Amino acid sequence: ETFADFHFQPFLMEALKDLHFVKPTPVQEKVIPIVLANKSVVGQSQTGSGKTHAFLLPIFEQLDAEDQNVQVVITTPSRELAYQIYNAAKQLNRFAPQKFTIHNYVGGTDKQHQIDQLQRKQPQLVIGTPGRILDLINSQALDIHTAHRFVVDEADMTLDMGFLEQVDGIASHFPEDLQMMVFSATIPQGLRPFLKKYMENPVVEEI
Ligand code: AMP
Repeated sequence: ETFADFHFQPFLMEALKDLHFVKPTPVQEKVIPIVLANKSVVGQSQTGSGKTHAFLLPIFEQLDAEDQNVQVVITTPSRELAYQIYNAAKQLNRFAPQKFTIHNYVGGTDKQHQIDQLQRKQPQLVIGTPGRILDLINSQALDIHTAHRFVVDEADMTLDMGFLEQVDGIASHFPEDLQMMVFSATIPQGLRPFLKKYMENPVVEEI
């Protein structure tokens, strides 16, 4: 399989060329078509498998440049991982004919500044750690009721670090027709009630 098989927009093909990605990794081969088809997915895959682009590429393919509301939320348990996803998203955005508004919300940054900025304009794509994102929602600053896609990256680590409650809090603010994409190296027992609550018939891919 090649990236051309996904029929991505030309700007994404340019971004892939810039990254020197020649062909999709196994997780990308499996997950990209599921995300494009709007289905919820549990991807059991390790870091280093290429999972970031497995969700970012189809998300960028389907972001609506004209829609100035929040369209997608991505959470990950650490600031460092959030910056990695944010940087990958910015790289793709460099090639977009109309730039998307992407914000990274992590703990330890200036919350009041983020609130002031959100009162003027909502980002189209939200990336961040669960605590800060929930905080901005509870402050009536970030409005995610327009978003239909939620990526929970490193779900097992999120559980281990005690952030699943916050992820659950975020999830309760989405509309009902939510596409959930959960990535986790393992599926521990403690994660199962959460998965059951938000996903009726997820496609489970073990890669
Ligand atoms: P990830 O698992 O998303 O953290 O990705 C691990 C590394 O693989 C990152 O450095 C990516 O830039 C790289 N990568 C992701 N997809 C591909 C691909 N299709 N071909 C080559 N490298 C890739």
